[in-house]
Amino acid sequence: MDKDLKNKTLEELEEIVEEFGQKKYLAKYIFTFIHCKSAKEISDISPLSKGFRGQLIENGYHISNLNIKESLTDPDGTVKFLFVMPDGNTIESVLLFDDKRKTVCVSTQAGCSMNCSFCATAKLKLKRNLTTAEIVDQINVIESEHGKVNNVVFMGMGEPLNNYDAVLKAVRILNHPAGKNIGIRHITISTCGNAEAIRKLAGEDIHPRLAVSLNAATDQLRSKLMPVINKKYPIAKLMAAAKNYQAKTKQRVTFEYILINKVNDSLSDARKLCGLIKHIKCNVNLIEYNEHPHCDYTASSKENIKLFAKILSDSGIETVIRFRRGRKIKAACGQLGADRIKKS
Ligand code: SF4
Repeated sequence: MDKDLKNKTLEELEEIVEEFGQKKYLAKYIFTFIHCKSAKEISDISPLSKGFRGQLIENGYHISNLNIKESLTDPDGTVKFLFVMPDGNTIESVLLFDDKRKTVCVSTQAGCSMNCSFCATAKLKLKRNLTTAEIVDQINVIESEHGKVNNVVFMGMGEPLNNYDAVLKAVRILNHPAGKNIGIRHITISTCGNAEAIRKLAGEDIHPRLAVSLNAATDQLRSKLMPVINKKYPIAKLMAAAKNYQAKTKQRVTFEYILINKVNDSLSDARKLCGLIKHIKCNVNLIEYNEHPHCDYTASSKENIKLFAKILSDSGIETVIRFRRGRKIKAACGQLGADRIKKS
């Protein structure tokens, strides 16, 4: 049985507290001390009696903690963090600054099994899923060094919806008013296209924003770029699931499209993309491809990116161009883990 208190929602903590014959409200102290007051061990939760803290410890309950191995700051201000977990696996998280807002891009798996052809993390292969505690602790640790985080995007290493239960629990914990209280509209799950999990998420009682990493408008091209996921959930299935999420949640879906030179960035590709998504309430993030030594792709020219964006905008699709951030420290989209590939 899992006894890491950082893995628990407030409701689960209430059950634990009651099992010890204690008053339910004490669970809130545990939850708040772990997620807002940086409690590293049970003895730090001072509102609990010494006797109760001792009982929890004697029964194997504990609080796990992630440790930063190193952090690197890009000239543009972006910070990348490397965490080493007790089993030796490593993950990376990224802190981005936008005016006064802070966004953390968290990892959900050590490595990834999806084998997207443009992505450095894919080269690491999947080592394991992260626990809920390991996911939320990336934010705890970054907040303790850089202050309050406003937005969380599940867009780091790994496919979040392939670690569904731990990720959803992390969303609940981050959103809870007794914890970090990060608004649900400020939490985004980015998926490579797990259509079945998107449908499951639509049926939950909590709905983070959904981003879909699309990158191609035809199955032929998408199967080259994202072979594993597109074989399992071809574009028609993915679009139906995205449309269902939008209809059930009344939120716009974001489609992400990484522009790769002479691969998916022609004006004909842009027109096909318009045709594919025009019937869904959505917006598009066009992402400049981030080159890394483990892949031969190159980035589209800035001029081409603007032309591509114009075709989408002229069709009435809200489009934002995301130019590279954190590139020098390999913290940009698709680059996470690039420094670890030779060592793995
Ligand atoms: S792009 Fe995302 S889903 Fe694809 S291999 Fe990389 S981390 Fe995995």
